[in-house]
Amino acid sequence: MSFTPNLSHIHEDDDEIRSILSASGTELPPLLPALAYALGDLTLLDEDLWLDPAKSLEEQGGWTLEQQELCREIALEGIRRLRAGESRHSDFTDKDLHTIMSWACGTTLDGAYLEMLREELAPENRDLRAPNWSRKDFSTNRDFTVAIIGAGMSGILAAYRLKQAGIDFVIFEKNSGIGGTWLENTYPGCRVDVSNHVYCYSFMQKHDWPHFHSTQEVLLQYFNECADHFNIRDNIRFSTEVSSAVWEEASGQWDLELESENGEEVFHCNSIISAVGQLNRPAYPQIAGRELFKGPSWHSARWNHEEKLEDKNIAVIGTGCSAIQFIPRVAEQASSTTIFQRTPNWLMPRPQYQQELPENLLWCFDHIPFYNNWFRLHLFWRSHEGLLPRLEIDPEWDSSEDNSISASNHELGFMLRLYLESEFSDTPELLEKVIPDYTMGAKRFVIDDGLWATTLKRPDVDLCTDQIAEITEEGIVTENGNLHKVDAIIYGTGFKASEFLTPMKIVGRQGLDLHEQWDGVAQAYLGIVSPNFPNLFFMYGPNTNIVINGSIIYFSECEAHYITRYIRYLLEHDITALDVKKEVHDEYNVRLDEGNAQMAWGTSSVNSWYKNADGQITQNWPFSLLEYWEQTREINPNDYIELQ
Ligand code: NAP
Repeated sequence: MSFTPNLSHIHEDDDEIRSILSASGTELPPLLPALAYALGDLTLLDEDLWLDPAKSLEEQGGWTLEQQELCREIALEGIRRLRAGESRHSDFTDKDLHTIMSWACGTTLDGAYLEMLREELAPENRDLRAPNWSRKDFSTNRDFTVAIIGAGMSGILAAYRLKQAGIDFVIFEKNSGIGGTWLENTYPGCRVDVSNHVYCYSFMQKHDWPHFHSTQEVLLQYFNECADHFNIRDNIRFSTEVSSAVWEEASGQWDLELESENGEEVFHCNSIISAVGQLNRPAYPQIAGRELFKGPSWHSARWNHEEKLEDKNIAVIGTGCSAIQFIPRVAEQASSTTIFQRTPNWLMPRPQYQQELPENLLWCFDHIPFYNNWFRLHLFWRSHEGLLPRLEIDPEWDSSEDNSISASNHELGFMLRLYLESEFSDTPELLEKVIPDYTMGAKRFVIDDGLWATTLKRPDVDLCTDQIAEITEEGIVTENGNLHKVDAIIYGTGFKASEFLTPMKIVGRQGLDLHEQWDGVAQAYLGIVSPNFPNLFFMYGPNTNIVINGSIIYFSECEAHYITRYIRYLLEHDITALDVKKEVHDEYNVRLDEGNAQMAWGTSSVNSWYKNADGQITQNWPFSLLEYWEQTREINPNDYIELQ
């Protein structure tokens, strides 16, 4: 894997290039922006190829065959010029870059949106979100140390930002390695269900991802390589769990209680960044008799690699994103697999889901300067902001036909239903079981390349939709009294997502306990800070999850930016701590709740991990990505009480 593209010289002749550009899998829309940027030539951006945002979900940006051919012709000319050694002229301006970006998005970009997208594009892999300040800029000589909890995707990002700003920090990681969710989830078939070219840091884009959706091993390697590149490994204390954190009013510090093989100790720091993730603590179902089962059983996030599946009858409980990835692998090995499904999924077809990048597309990444950046921007355009309105409620819409919430929700639901109907056209009894009847977008979509239908149609696989009554020594009993005798049970039953920061005990000002303050409803201002808990930050905190529009790494980058701006404010003004005002926090959360009530996941009564035990949405962000970016640009001192 490499972060710095080491471009190969173009030695292919015109015919070879033509055939690369014509091969299926070559993503045409990012080609011309990449070439225009590489050559500094805006004339490559043909007006007849202006992208139509309404067609963002269609292949090749919805271009007609003639338009695709026109793109290839212009691209060939551009590639010829690269081959001849031409490069960008020195008077290329920021305005030129903006023109290319607007063309690439089919929208005239300006203001904040342009700035946000420019950071996402990260032209030439520049780190546009790096702190533009350092603690040395400020005269304060007070000590300032940050404890980061967790060395997963968010934790190592936060560490790097602090390092860039010259702030001291230590990461405490309960596991023995880096990677968080990508270290813990080792189940067969595990891979990222967001496109990899957006599921990576904006400033650490790779031009050689092997797959469109990489496997767990590749992502684990990516985050390890990032940590090495950031040079933060020596700041991590592995196999060390934070059991509690207590704010000491007198010293204006946090005292962390640590548990490791060396026993217990206390660590003092000025600030804490919790980067423990939302999908971290496995949830086992509350099914009577679970402890009675005689055979082996395990959770998807604690995969039992010792247990061989061959010659065994396996039961799987759950059909969420994790289960749908591992069930096909289990079915290939086991004698029989019985899948207990409570709620079917809306499947989002993605034929490339498990495919390697084709040679011709890899050629573009390897030969066209910074094609990776423009490919990422194109994905962002295709799959991000434009999709969110499809999950918004139109109060005028009649939902009685199919529980849809708007015309565009109905339209996408119709397409997804057609997909299911085509996948299961030869097995009507299965089709009946897999068609969801709840609002499309109320639960997370499951990405599919046809493997789900292939698996369910296997003669040794049974999809059981009878509800589970109990678990006995021998297996699983459903409500109709049938006993399904099995040798092992695998729980694909998700995580305690709404129990943020458990099992840590966090005590803030006046001895207030964070979990008591939340009382089951985790809330935070911007998902980052809670009143009474000064200098304590959450990454991937309450209401910062997204359902359809993008990659969670985007949110982590916004959060890390906000946190460093906050710390900068403390140092610049020589302040001990800030505590967010309750009224600011409460107003923000009222608006958030109203926003969530307008969304598919807020209206439907279907089960989902987006809700807490009382059915309140504690996970999701209902607004645009741009809005989160704007709100986390800068801290507003008026939002906070200063503690000296
Ligand atoms: P999940 O989406 O919460 O799914 C849990 C499954 O277990 C659901 O099918 C649920 O049914 C079922 N279940 C729970 N309790 C049950 C009970 N008592 N009886 C019967 N069934 C029960 O968990 P997950 O699949 O681990 O995925 C969680 C999230 O992790 C995903 O949404 C995604 O964001 C992330 N994820 C990402 C990737 C990736 O990128 N590679 C992969 C996996 C997961 P109901 O639907 O009826 O509740």
